Formats: sequence, structure tokens, C-alpha cells
Amino acid sequence: MPTATDAPNARGLIVVVEDEAAIADVIRMNLARAGFGVHIEGDGERGLAAIRSLKPAAILLDVGLPGIDGVEVCRRLRAAQDWTPVLFVTARDDEVDRILGLELGADDYVTKPFSPRELVARVSSVLRRSRGVPDAGAELTVGQVTLDLGERRVFAAGGAMELTATEFDLLAFLMRRPGRVFGREQLMSEVWGYSSVAGTRTVDVHIAQVRAKLGDASPIRTVRGVGYSVQARPGDAPVADTEHE
Ligand code: CA
Repeated sequence: MPTATDAPNARGLIVVVEDEAAIADVIRMNLARAGFGVHIEGDGERGLAAIRSLKPAAILLDVGLPGIDGVEVCRRLRAAQDWTPVLFVTARDDEVDRILGLELGADDYVTKPFSPRELVARVSSVLRRSRGVPDAGAELTVGQVTLDLGERRVFAAGGAMELTATEFDLLAFLMRRPGRVFGREQLMSEVWGYSSVAGTRTVDVHIAQVRAKLGDASPIRTVRGVGYSVQARPGDAPVADTEHE
């Protein structure tokens, strides 16, 4: 497995950890063509070392890797408070289910086989989110949860919380629109910047992750058969979203 770094450029450096050379080549070619710098490693240990030294804009992480696998790489990054956006590349849908259950703080998932166009769209989308335009000085509070939109920090029940870029954007989107109910596909297109039926499970998982982190302070409600909503005040009934922004 050759290791190589193309010159990083304006769109940012992506570290790709993928042990299948043919797939790594396709990923490199397509990300480079889209204007990203690309650095490829073929196993978890080297991937982790490259991520720590190169500080990429985002990480594309294969789940099945020799040595420490993609799950463990992500776990170690998050344990070290490294919140660089992670996109998992998974071989099977049931693998997605397993990873989703682990609440690793990944930002998105791509299942093999993926189209190059989809891959580039996902990477672009996660970067757009992580670089979200700061909203200096603005704060948003619903119930026990306060978002500092400028610093992108979250306070729940008085304590600071760590959310990934995607979890933050999802929560902020709902908290800006209290009382309104959004379907999964709508959240997908509003927060992730694209929509796919398969992707709606990603929404469920990110909601679950936000809830797990915020615990009892979480203001997010599930509206059966419709989607999710943030309660404006305790006891308020959610209303279905009829106007589109
Ligand atoms: Ca693999």
C-alpha cells in the first residue's frame, strides 16, 4: 500500500484510511479532481499518526482495517478531544447499524459501493458544516440547553458538552425553530445538504447521539410517523411543518 500526500490546497486536506488499494486510488482520484488534498494510509495505526501530524480538514475512515480498525481509530480521536469530522466508509448496511449503535461521534457514513460523485458531495457537505459561518455573539436557549452559536459551544443543565459539528448543526437547526416538526428527509437536506432515503437512518442516529449526550436536558421530541421537534416550552404540543423555508 503506497503512502502519498498530494499538495493540500484551498479545499483542505483529507486523510483517507483505507486498506484496499483499488478503492483508495478511486477515492484519491475523485477527491483530488474535486480540489481536495489527499493523504492515504492503509492501516489504523498509520492513519492515526497521520491524522495527528497532518491535522486534516476531514477524515475518511474505512471500518475494516488491519490492526486497529476504523471504529477504534475514531474512538481514540474522540477520547483525545479531536473533533475533526469523520466519514465512515462501510462495507455493508449491517455494519452501519453496528457503528451507529456505538455513538462514536462520526459525522456521516458512506456504504460501499458508492459513486464518486456521492463521496465528493458527502465530504464537501461535512466540511461545509464543520466550517459553518459563525454567528458571533448569538445565543439560543431552549429549556436547559443553551447554544453559543459564535463559539459553537453547548451548555446543558449548566455544564459544557462536546458535540460533533453535525450534532451541533442538527440541534441548532431544530432549536431555531421550536415547536415545528421536521421529517427525516427534510432534516437530511437542511442539515446535511443532500437527501437520500438511505440517509434518513443517519438522522435517527445523530438525534440519538445528541440525546445521549444531553441526557434529561435534551429538548428533542420524537413525533411518531413524522419526525422530530424541539419543544418551545415543556408541555407545548408540536405542530407539523407546513411552510418551507
Ligand atoms: Ca477494509
